[in-house]
Amino acid sequence: MSDKLLVIGEARHGELRHVTFEAVAAAKRIDDGAEVVGVLCSHEDMNEQAQEFIYNGADRVITVKHDNLETYSSEGYSQALMTVINNESPDGIIMGHTASGKDLTPRLAAKLDTGLISDVTDIEINDDQAVFIRPIYSGKAFEKKTISDGLTFVTIRPNNLPALERDESRSGDITAQEVDVKDLNTVIKDVIQKTSEGVDLSEANVIVSGGRAVKSAEGFEPLYELADVLGGAVGASRGACDAEYCDYSLQIGQTGKVVTPDLYIAVGISGAIQHLAGMSNSKVIVAINKDPEANIFNVADYGIVGDIFEVVPKLTEELKQA
Ligand code: FAD
Repeated sequence: MSDKLLVIGEARHGELRHVTFEAVAAAKRIDDGAEVVGVLCSHEDMNEQAQEFIYNGADRVITVKHDNLETYSSEGYSQALMTVINNESPDGIIMGHTASGKDLTPRLAAKLDTGLISDVTDIEINDDQAVFIRPIYSGKAFEKKTISDGLTFVTIRPNNLPALERDESRSGDITAQEVDVKDLNTVIKDVIQKTSEGVDLSEANVIVSGGRAVKSAEGFEPLYELADVLGGAVGASRGACDAEYCDYSLQIGQTGKVVTPDLYIAVGISGAIQHLAGMSNSKVIVAINKDPEANIFNVADYGIVGDIFEVVPKLTEELKQA
């Protein structure tokens, strides 16, 4: 692709999101010889985070600071990034396939009249050329894409490409880029986080997900306890969200979040195709369901046929002892 690859980093609560490091590793995989330049936008100093970017593989980092970048907005961030892109003229731009990545990269690609390969889950090298693999038809098939020419944006699905080993001996320049971010038409006053505290669902290594079988909002409590013991996050099927047992921000599936944790525990979820579209690429799937014929068992690595109200508390107790 490339002499220079730009990686757009993302921070949350002052810390770089892990997908940023996965994007750096993706850039190195695309072209080991390319210079990998990280970009961080914020209203605050980001020198500490920039250093962390370098420890995780970026060759240098550009920080962009402006009052209008306090909260994410497509308008503000695209203005800031256009300045960086025009100054740097990269050969490729990589970002996480996160809410911001999904919003920002098509906008920038359209402005620059260039291409976008989104939701990449793997990158192979074939005859020195990067081949991008992405799921299509709700994960039922995979598409392979290559770039023939010109600048292209790539978004990578969190939790699929391993990050590089963090190494404090890595060094690189951190430079500040002046930008003019004009007053925004839309001003975001506040961002209310609705997902469970601590672990972000789309980047969680362990997810305990509840279906309609949990029967009530209180029925989700044992799932939170299990998730806590495992250091994971809680997700849900649309059945559970539609029944108002939990917030839609927890929904996993075709019309919810797409997740790829190391461990996905489906609790009282039937395994409808729309749900599988969001979780079937999880590394290990455990299903708990009282119906041995439930479709979820067709994708599960381990299945427990039983009542969730008995199995989940027992599992939590056992894990607490372990
Ligand atoms: P159910 O299908 O009701 O399954 C409940 C399961 O729990 C059953 O298998 C039952 O055997 C088991 N069970 C019941 N009681 C117990 C118990 N005590 N112990 C153990 N097991 C028990 N769904 C999503 O999840 N995500 C999406 O993004 C999504 N997008 C959609 C988009 C479209 C356009 C459409 C049409 C549908 C979409 N759906 C989505 C809905 C999907 O088709 C299913 O209706 C939904 O996933 C069902 O949720 P569920 O498995 O929790 O509920």
